[in-house]
Amino acid sequence: MGSTALPIALPALKTNPKFIFFTDFDGTITQQDSNDFMTDNLGYGPELRKQGNEDVLFGRRDFRDAFRDMLDSIDTPFDRCIDLLRRNITLDPGFKDFFEWARENNVPIVVLSGGMEPIIRALLAHMLGQEAADSLQIVSNQVTSREGKSINEAGGWQIVYHDESGFGHDKSLEIRPYARLPAEERPVLFYAGDGVSDLSAAKETDLLFAKAGRDLVTYCEKENVPFQTFEDFSDIHATVKDIVEGKLTHTAAATGRK
Ligand SMILES: [Mg+2]
Repeated sequence: MGSTALPIALPALKTNPKFIFFTDFDGTITQQDSNDFMTDNLGYGPELRKQGNEDVLFGRRDFRDAFRDMLDSIDTPFDRCIDLLRRNITLDPGFKDFFEWARENNVPIVVLSGGMEPIIRALLAHMLGQEAADSLQIVSNQVTSREGKSINEAGGWQIVYHDESGFGHDKSLEIRPYARLPAEERPVLFYAGDGVSDLSAAKETDLLFAKAGRDLVTYCEKENVPFQTFEDFSDIHATVKDIVEGKLTHTAAATGRK
């Protein structure tokens, strides 16, 4: 070891990209939020869930605690949760085209999720195919069994958070080492998201895409984060393509609410 700081692993730099696309999973790549869906249909229901989200958005509670409460209200075995989600969660209509374009144009996609990795992998494999799902870097929380049980029995699983932050998964931790690269090596960083799990990432990238009509839009306006709204990934695709092709700058693209 030399005298310099230990190198930090920056897996998205492997192909020397000029642009990196970070994205939330639930409600962003998918049309529904899988954790909300489980809570509403298998757990304590939409009313308490919406109250919990609002408490986080207005700073009354940590995401970490509100989210654990939501998931703890679900008693269904983990494999049955995944089955239910496979049947009910659908892919954003523009994501597959964007995913293929990004691959061909050396724009790595990194999924940063406040959800659980086994669910995300299972849904991506179902919606995009196994090979495509395996090719994506996913940084998220994990799942483990409760004492004396297996995850696939009633009341048998629980979330394991990625880090000690109030977010459970502080998405800024993955983005910041890229953001701090020297100017000549630093790619342009994008982020797409929809809700409270994205608050920790919102201030870290050059251009944020916030799903129209969702909580993240309110937050960006309140905190003066440069953003553009999107209806689905075809909007994101058009903007990112123009930026990559040099027809638009990321600062000019931050037009806020449409
Ligand atoms: Mg989301």
